[in-house]
Amino acid sequence: MGAERLCPNCRSASRITKGEAIWPVDWTCADCSYQAPHRDGITLTAPDLADTISGFDPKDFDFLACAEIEHFWFAARRKLIVDLANKYAIGAKSFLEIGCGSGNVINAMAREREWDRIVGTEIHPSGLAHARPRLPASVELLQVDARRLPFSDTFDLIGAFDVLEHIADDQLVLSEIHRALALGGTFIATVPQHPSLWSVADEVAYHERRYERGELQAKLKAAGFRVVFSTSYTALLLPLMAVSRLRVRRNAGKSDARASVRQEFDISSMLNRILTMVLRAEVGLTARGMSWPIGGSRVVVAQKA
Ligand SMILES: [Zn+2]
Repeated sequence: MGAERLCPNCRSASRITKGEAIWPVDWTCADCSYQAPHRDGITLTAPDLADTISGFDPKDFDFLACAEIEHFWFAARRKLIVDLANKYAIGAKSFLEIGCGSGNVINAMAREREWDRIVGTEIHPSGLAHARPRLPASVELLQVDARRLPFSDTFDLIGAFDVLEHIADDQLVLSEIHRALALGGTFIATVPQHPSLWSVADEVAYHERRYERGELQAKLKAAGFRVVFSTSYTALLLPLMAVSRLRVRRNAGKSDARASVRQEFDISSMLNRILTMVLRAEVGLTARGMSWPIGGSRVVVAQKA
């Protein structure tokens, strides 16, 4: 075995050597002579899907790129992911983030430790174009379809942070992630949970679902993973979230739903500081092993057995 690249056209496998780019610019399939096209310096392994609204409107990258850096929710999630990666995958030398968007998380991961290989993917090359100038040069970027990952036995750690809920066939994606991981490799996922919290915010974000209790863990087991940690998070925010969602629901008929959802981001810097402190405390407890019964989101750490 060992790290392998799968041809996007014929699926034949070829060895990825250490120090080589994850997808060399001039890579040609030895079996079918396929060459992946490029756009703005990004290799496209699923070019047919590059310009679609598959589970996300690329226009939202502009908005998210600015909102994510300081916003308490994104800041807390970023810290949670970094802390869990350090706890459960401290030996990992290679990291793949699926759906890295504008690069908020992979940026933090790139600066956290020395990687042999760190790769961010997106189905939308426009997201990667936003991410590129904000990321260290060591981060490689690639356009892929998560339902058809072009890798086998390649990464020690894979992350998908608020990505699976955008994809109808999430079970297929989990199987693809399982194959792309090295044996003993770690997968960390965050998803929104509790279908009862479903709102217009989920609709404008092109969510397929919010996860039911136990749903993600069951799907991970079906894909061959062993779940090693699972908890709700943003537990301390749940009352606030409920109020905010009610407000959005009440305003939904009166104003543009998208604008109304964006108001959720538009909070005073004082409130943002307070909520950041609350969630930092929560994340600190979670990283030390505390598991919360409820919360707007769920984080799961799983291992390729
Ligand atoms: Zn081929």
